[in-house]
Amino acid sequence: MSHTEIETEGTGPKDFTLPEGCLVCGGDLPVRVTASGGAHAVCKQCGWFSRPVLTVKKSGLEVGYRSAMA
Ligand SMILES: [Zn+2]
Repeated sequence: MSHTEIETEGTGPKDFTLPEGCLVCGGDLPVRVTASGGAHAVCKQCGWFSRPVLTVKKSGLEVGYRSAMA
């Protein structure tokens, strides 16, 4: 069982907005990172709910999506 924590304290925001991050309407997507290292986002415009997968890389924070949709 793997456990990954994102170190955001002092280094990055726990809330941020992905420009054009919504896959449905292409609007800005506010993302909230929870204390447990998970994340969720709800589009302000269309209400699309997603669980972005955050990956910390040397170049920065990479955001992906679980392929729940075909
Ligand atoms: Zn949307």
